[in-house]
Amino acid sequence: MIINLTLLSFINIGLSKLLTILHQISGSMVDDKVKKIISLLKNEYPGIKTALSYSDPLELLIATILSAQCTDKQVNEVTKNLFKKYRTLQDYIKTPQEELEKDIYSTGFYRNKAKNIKGLSEILVNDFDSKVPDTMENLLKLPGVARKTANIVLSGAFGKIEGIAVDTHVKRLSGRLGLTANTNPEKIEKDLMKIIPMDIWDIFTLLLINHGRKVCDARKPLCHECVLNKLCPSAFKFG
Ligand code: SF4
Repeated sequence: MIINLTLLSFINIGLSKLLTILHQISGSMVDDKVKKIISLLKNEYPGIKTALSYSDPLELLIATILSAQCTDKQVNEVTKNLFKKYRTLQDYIKTPQEELEKDIYSTGFYRNKAKNIKGLSEILVNDFDSKVPDTMENLLKLPGVARKTANIVLSGAFGKIEGIAVDTHVKRLSGRLGLTANTNPEKIEKDLMKIIPMDIWDIFTLLLINHGRKVCDARKPLCHECVLNKLCPSAFKFG
């Protein structure tokens, strides 16, 4: 009986060591894969930065809100005139909603966007001394601002990297590349934050967005042209 118990405890210790080693191996395999993905994408898109045009935190906040379901190019077309006409928060507050809707019409979802922009302008004036806040907590108090927008504003306007902005491209590519099994943006963000080095959280978003736009299309990904096709578990599984 004593021998059996000793034997069992040896087997137990052996199993837990084996599981730890397997865990370490799978962890380092993920690390290696992530490092390769980052390095290949950095080579593809050197010196990458946000394509949105802005000159201060408010302009970046407005441009990011307008960029939902719209290309950065189209947003820049619209903001070229918008930022000349609306120079202060009061300009957004005083302008009738219908007029603001017309000014941002071509970015899509203009009613909601105009409502959010007017709403956040009021809050910034009343609660934040007419300044765009530089914390995640306060940015999330603004209408139309979720973690994605807040992450972009924090890194682009204040140089603060607190998370990984997960837009439709980041969501799609993270899943296809096997970096997450989740579909909820907040859960995806948490998964990515565990495996992506913190100092490149902001760049990682931009790399995936660019790759999503240029190569890994939602419907017809160009796997044969993709630099990641040897690492990607979804490669050549479309069409
Ligand atoms: S191999 Fe295909 S599915 Fe994978 S990232 Fe590249 S384009 Fe997307």
